[in-house]
Amino acid sequence: QKDVVESSTFDPLPLKKWLKDQCRLLGFEHPTPVQQACIPRILEGQDILACAKTGSGKTAAFALPILDVLSDDVYGIFALILTPTRELAYQIADQFRVFGKPLGLKDCVITGGMDMMIQNSALTESPHIVIATPGRLADHIESGTEFSLNKIKFLVLDEADRLLEDNFGKQLQTIFSILPKQRQTLLFSATITDTIKQVQSISERKPFLFDGNLLHQPADKLDQYYLLVPSNVKDAYLFHLLSLYHGNKDDDEEGGSAEKKRSGSTIVFTSTCRDCQILSMMCRKFQMPSVEIHSLMKQRQRLASLAKFKSLQVGILFATDVASRGLDIPSVDLIINHNVPFVPKEYVHRVGRTARAGM
Ligand code: ADP
Ligand code: MG
Repeated sequence: QKDVVESSTFDPLPLKKWLKDQCRLLGFEHPTPVQQACIPRILEGQDILACAKTGSGKTAAFALPILDVLSDDVYGIFALILTPTRELAYQIADQFRVFGKPLGLKDCVITGGMDMMIQNSALTESPHIVIATPGRLADHIESGTEFSLNKIKFLVLDEADRLLEDNFGKQLQTIFSILPKQRQTLLFSATITDTIKQVQSISERKPFLFDGNLLHQPADKLDQYYLLVPSNVKDAYLFHLLSLYHGNKDDDEEGGSAEKKRSGSTIVFTSTCRDCQILSMMCRKFQMPSVEIHSLMKQRQRLASLAKFKSLQVGILFATDVASRGLDIPSVDLIINHNVPFVPKEYVHRVGRTARAGM
């Protein structure tokens, strides 16, 4: 799962030299994670479903490989990029223009608020790529503008979540109906919503999934360990571990123990509400103040626990995944997984509570 290799430059990426030169020229020195993960996949011919926050360089993640393939062989309209707003369409066109300058790239922007006739002739002059908002493009298709999208190699949905949520459904259907089946489909979005997952039906192929939100994570700032212990002493080990961090302060004599004894907070993830309750109770019996969050508690109680934990009144929080999801739990120093999470993604969410944003 760990696809993002730290690479300092664009050089190791399988892009043509002229594109790497363009990157350098334009001040793109280091590929962003979404670029690093997606560019090679797109060049291999895979479909993509990528999610990365705004400003993470999604445009170049698709523009660069599209231009790379396009420079080998162009016939007909080569790529169609759909985006929800006019402004975005022009922004995307700008990126294609600056990167594609050495190719003499011909693009065509089709959005509302512009003259249909002018767009009409631009479309018929066989541009290499068309960047469009769905409404206007569907208008052109329905009014019989003479252009063909049946040779496109790439379909990109930029801001795919918004495209799918903003009621473009009918127009998208019109557009998809005239696209060839043989093509690559690339979906880019700031969040992976359920709607997007539905959209995987746009393409019959299994896309490569990139989720940038899972990236501030098992990164280099985070030390990860596992302890193999017999299950009958697992809880004893847990409390031993907790006492190292949160135990009685009787070894505070020299005041120089800050290095050894961490003053920060700890979250212990458990698999069941019962574990959560019992362990937290035992913890308090051992004179280590703790609170818990699990789904047998009322929302009000959970928030009260969280408030105590956040304000550092208590240093230990016991939590189940279900109860802690969606809550604004602050960054902490130590995460203990009392059980192995059921799904890998959960692990990343859990440990994502620490070593955030290089902290
Ligand atoms: P997103 O679509 O993910 O919101 P954009 O593709 O619009 O992000 O990129 C945001 C800004 O970052 C743009 O100004 C773009 O030129 C710049 N950018 C993208 N990738 C890089 C890179 N590898 N190095 C430097 N700047 C970059
Ligand atoms: Mg974007």
